[in-house]
Amino acid sequence: MSKLNSQTVAVRSGIETDPVYGAVVPPIYMTSNFAFEDFREPGQFDYARSGNPNTKLLEKTLADMEQGAGAIVTNCGLAAITLLMQLLEQGDTLVVPHDSYGGSLRLFKALANKGHFILKVVDQTNPAELEQALAAKPAMIWLETPSNPLLRLVDIEAICNVAKQQGTKVTVDNTFLSPILQQPLTLGADFVVHSCTKYINGHSDALGGVVVCADAEVAEHLGWWANCLGLTDCSALNNYMILRGIRTLSARMAVHQQNAQQLVDALVAHPAVAKVYYPGLTDHPGHSIAKKQQKGFGGMLSFELKGGVDEVATLLNNISLFSIAESLGGTESLICYPSTMTHRAMDEQSQRTAGISNTLLRISAGVEYGDDLVTDLLNALNKIKEA
Ligand SMILES: *Cc1c(COP(=O)(O)O)cnc(C)c1O
Repeated sequence: MSKLNSQTVAVRSGIETDPVYGAVVPPIYMTSNFAFEDFREPGQFDYARSGNPNTKLLEKTLADMEQGAGAIVTNCGLAAITLLMQLLEQGDTLVVPHDSYGGSLRLFKALANKGHFILKVVDQTNPAELEQALAAKPAMIWLETPSNPLLRLVDIEAICNVAKQQGTKVTVDNTFLSPILQQPLTLGADFVVHSCTKYINGHSDALGGVVVCADAEVAEHLGWWANCLGLTDCSALNNYMILRGIRTLSARMAVHQQNAQQLVDALVAHPAVAKVYYPGLTDHPGHSIAKKQQKGFGGMLSFELKGGVDEVATLLNNISLFSIAESLGGTESLICYPSTMTHRAMDEQSQRTAGISNTLLRISAGVEYGDDLVTDLLNALNKIKEA
């Protein structure tokens, strides 16, 4: 565990540790295997699926940033989630939010259908539903806060307090905020999961995932499973890229967040907009939870337009500084239409239940100059009035 602030850990981790040449930045170890000095005993590393210096450093950095006891880096976020599922036995119950990331929900359902565990999908922002689900003493509860795409929040600490008393493990998917803005392990969670593909790497040019554990022994156990199942991130170059991205995470988050706030202010004031979802808004249902458990409101926002699909088309046809793309957390601003993009795997009924309407749009605010983004968005919104 690190006493240093995550921002400092992100910048300093592994710096000036090269034992051979004193390289300031840790070198990339492009090798699949490591020689045994003594045939009876492997050295620290033997085969790169089981670990290499770049993976190890990335794991230590992420564990320290989340204040965990250990971490396992995987080849993508879903591999991290697959890894955690190994902790569940047949007959165990897993409680997940109905508005989980689409790929996570697909994985949970597919594994449950094979009898891997019992799945309970609930609206965790509904106190009665949440209480009932916890009262059944599930083996694990999965939290995703803020959730995708409506940025719904749940109180991590309150759920952990109930869970801890009855042996329910708590996992938080912290992808939307990063350890710079939220540290679930300090609120009592057992595990944190990230899609490092998003803010952690932050440049939309590498995929990765991580499980950070509060308990060192469990981390070791999961490390064994990751090697056994082939879920580790075996690419030294990929590990290096993600750590390179982490160096600027704190600086990036500050600008993502500032730009998100500017875009929110512009959207709230525009007559073509029906509703804006951002935890920083005082009328957002999770606003007080956000103030309590987050260090900022983040770089993600979503909004609904008045009208229908024609208005959505006008906006998207006239916007130019936002790429129409899935994913999030990169330096470039993105706009996404969940209904046919990120959430297309959901049928219409499930989309409506999760609150995904046909005029909902989601923005991942990049780190461009904020005024330029606002001008571009306003220009496209104004076209709706004219159309
Ligand atoms: C993208 C994402 C994942 C999955 O991660 P991959 O790196 O795409 O496998 C999981 N959870 C959330 C919240 C995500 O945004």
